[in-house]
Amino acid sequence: MATVECGRCDETKEHLTEPPVGGELGDTIVQRICADCWGEWRETSARLINHYGLNLGDSAHRQKLRSAMKEFLKLEDKPKE
Ligand SMILES: [Zn+2]
Repeated sequence: MATVECGRCDETKEHLTEPPVGGELGDTIVQRICADCWGEWRETSARLINHYGLNLGDSAHRQKLRSAMKEFLKLEDKPKE
């Protein structure tokens, strides 16, 4: 079974079998985040969407949620050159 040393909970656990979001970020999540932490984010994101009344059809709202996700999962943007 494929595992990952999770960057959020610091445990070696099973990772996701496929990227949960599109693009490079999805690949990063598979490589660095365990399935359990992703599950926690899914619950948290549902709460945030309700709490802030986020509309995922709105790109500014999607951006806000994406920033919250990176913070939650301890993913950092690559330093700009
Ligand atoms: Zn984890």
